[in-house]
Parts: sequence; C-alpha cells; structure tokens
Amino acid sequence: MSTADFAAERLLFTPAVSDPTAVPVIFAFPNTYSVGITSLGYQIVWATLAQRHDLQTSRLFTDAHESLPTQPELVGFSVSWELDYVNILALLEQLQVPLLAAERQAAQPLVFGGGPVLTANPEPFADFFDVILLGEGETLLDQFIDAYQSVRTADRHTQLVRLAQVPGVYVPSLYAVTYVGSDGPVQAIQAIAAVPAQVQKQTYRGDVLSASKVVTEKAAWENIYMVEVVRSCPEMCRFCLASYLTLPFRTASLEGSLMPAIERGLSVTKRLGLLGASVTQHPEFDALLDYLNRPEYDDIRLSLASVRTGTVNQKLAATLVKHDTRSITIAVESGSERLRRIVNKKLQNDEIIAAAVNAKAGGLSAIKLYGMVGIPGEEATDLDETVEMMKTLKKAAPGLRLTLGCSTFVPKAHTPFQWFGVSPEAEKRLKLLQKQLRSRGIDFRPESYSWSVVQALILGAIAAYLNCCCGCVTMASR
Ligand code: SF4
Repeated sequence: MSTADFAAERLLFTPAVSDPTAVPVIFAFPNTYSVGITSLGYQIVWATLAQRHDLQTSRLFTDAHESLPTQPELVGFSVSWELDYVNILALLEQLQVPLLAAERQAAQPLVFGGGPVLTANPEPFADFFDVILLGEGETLLDQFIDAYQSVRTADRHTQLVRLAQVPGVYVPSLYAVTYVGSDGPVQAIQAIAAVPAQVQKQTYRGDVLSASKVVTEKAAWENIYMVEVVRSCPEMCRFCLASYLTLPFRTASLEGSLMPAIERGLSVTKRLGLLGASVTQHPEFDALLDYLNRPEYDDIRLSLASVRTGTVNQKLAATLVKHDTRSITIAVESGSERLRRIVNKKLQNDEIIAAAVNAKAGGLSAIKLYGMVGIPGEEATDLDETVEMMKTLKKAAPGLRLTLGCSTFVPKAHTPFQWFGVSPEAEKRLKLLQKQLRSRGIDFRPESYSWSVVQALILGAIAAYLNCCCGCVTMASR
C-alpha cells in the first residue's frame, strides 16, 4: 500500500504536534488498512493517542504502515475479531518483538491490547500481552498513558505494577492463573504482586457516543462516516455478547451528540452509517429519521447496522429508499417461536411477516434475515419451522428478494449460554436448510461451520464482536 492511501484520508480531528521527548508508540490493527480504518473503535483510540502531545503515534496494519519508530516504547493492538489473532503474532514478528511477554527485555516495548475480544476473555491471549485494557476506552486510555508517563524511566516491573493500579488495566504477568485439570475452566486467579485482587472492566457513562474521526475512500465501506447511536442492547438474547458485554444499554443524546456529529460528518462526505447493536431502539429514533429526512440531506446515502425486526415500519423503509439503500437486514435467529423463547428473543412470526410487508410497501427491494443453527435446545422440527417461515414470507411479500444468512451458534463469555458447546449437528443442519430453501428459490447463505469451530477453539468457547453477534450487524445495503 502506498502512502497515497493515507493521503486519501479526511481527518475530523487535529493531530497534536508531538513534543521532542514524546513517547514513540505504534498502534496496530491486526488486519488490512481497509478493514482497520473501517473500525470505529480503532479510529477512536488512534485519534485519542494522536491528539496527545506527549506521544508520537504511528499506525500499523497488515498491509500498510506509517513511518515506524525504530525503538517504540509502546506497541498497541485493537482486537475486534478473534480470527485476527494470528495476525497479532505476525505483526510482532515483523516488528522483531518477542511474541511472549515473559521473553521481552527492558529495551523492548510494552505490548498492550484492548477491544471486545480481549475484554470478553483476555486469558487465551494473556501470554502475548504485557498489558490488557478491559472495557471501554473513553476514560481508560488516557489514564493508562498518564500512568505510563509517570513511570516511563522506571524498570519494567515497577512500570507494570504502577500500570496495574489503573482501574481496568490487567497485567497478566502479575497474576497466577490456575485451571481445573489440563483442559478445564479457570480455577483461580491470584495477584502475585501488590496489585488489585480483581480488575474491574470499565464502563463509560456519558451520553455522547462515538463518531468517525476519519473518512476515506479506501475504507471497506467507501467514504462512510459512522455515528454510534446506541451502545449495548436491552433485549438480552441469551447468546448475545453485543448485549451482555457492554451493558447497560446507553443511547446518544439526539441534540447533544447525534445531530452535531452527523452535521460534522456530512460536511465531508455523503455517506452516513448509523451504528449500534440495536439502533432502532433509540428512544428518539423517529425524530432522528425526521432529522435525516430534511431536504438538505436528500443526497446522502444512509446505512443502518442492526434493526430490530419489530421496528421495521414503512417510514423506516421509505427513509432508507430515499437515501439510496435498497435492502434491510433483520435477525430472527429461527423460524421457531419455541426456540426464540429459549434464547429470550421477544419476537413473533407475525412481526417478521409485518417487517417484510412494510419493507416492500416502503419501497425496499430486498430483505435479509439472519438465523442460527445449533442453538441449545434446537430440534429437527425447529428447522422445519424455519423453512415454513421463509415460504410464508415469500407469499406475504411477493417480489421482495429474500435471503436467509445462517451461522452456527458459538458460545460467548459473559452470556447465559457461555457454557454450551458448538453443536456437532450444526453442519448437517446447515446443509438441510440449504437443500430445502434453495429448491424453493430462496437465497440461502450459510456461514462456514468449520470457521465457527475454529472460532470456538481459539477462544476456548469464547468469541466476540461488538456489534450484534447474531449477525444483525450487517449494514443495510443496496
Ligand atoms: S441478538 Fe440482536 S436483539 Fe438480541 S440482544 Fe443481541 S443485538 Fe439485541
């Protein structure tokens, strides 16, 4: 990748001019530039670091980097997908930093990491990090850097003990973890230095949520400006990390946060993405649609992250159509109401039908549903009900393009379903749905069963991505 790609960036913040004694920092995303720069979390952390005079921050991706310091003092990773894990190790090798924290010497950088994967369960990655930041970065990040500055010249052990005093900072080498047997769960975690016995995940309590700090045509969603409308989800489906990891449900203030952010973003681009695990559950979502329907925004392209099925009405569909989006995505999990009750998904089949009918009446040309197989308690008859539901939808909204995306249930830490395994029946069930649906002209898109197993194995039954883990993260698209 050439530096011209960085040159395509339009920044929505002013980076600081670094002091002569600034700490050299490398802040990495373990995937390509296009993927990394589309991560709102990565953008926010990078902008926070880049706005500090006492840091000299360079970015690193798997296929691109800014000019890197020869002797970084801090190397950070934003980890939002567990299958990027291997890229962390490759980037450390590229930087000639020992992979294991225990093998790093005084002159070598402290390697820190944060993000949903590490917050959900840091333990599978603990050997590779000197420091892991647990929770939301809004206040944690600056406190971590301030603490580092206060011990910058101290020896490594003193540095780590001081950093571990910051709420939310986990220093794995200062805790002894024991397990039940060789393949059992964690038995105990004990501090082995003068550090807090427990590390408290940090939660931000403000009503100003995140918005893009950079817009670029090189992003995976070209030129998109992203605004976080809500954080977490009040529905608490029993498998859903997007809900449980970031509770409580918080909403951005419409006038104090969303409107000014949108105005700022739309001064540099015409593409807006509304993000959050459950954006339509914002209490003023209707007013937000009215705001976006003002004539001065007629030429913007609007994309939504997840939409709760029961909230798909004609006004929402027509607003999307007006703003150049032709399809909407809803997560239904299954066609079986019994199974939805098991997962605590408060959704009836008639609401799914109403969503499809409203989508069509509002002018949308396609609806994509997300489901899962291998949900705990699933029986063969539940799959029949999924097939029936898709057939009913086809009749109820003729002409609307129907797609069912389907993944395999992978258990996530912090959720009530964390101790259930991946069902060995799941692969067979994906094939069965494929046979039944494709023969009826319904577009069925299964996600790889093998990768679901890999996901579960890497994390020891832990997986994470901060948008909705059932798949309703997918942006509504053309
Ligand atoms: S699956 Fe969707 S509706 Fe359920 S808790 Fe997660 S984000 Fe909310």
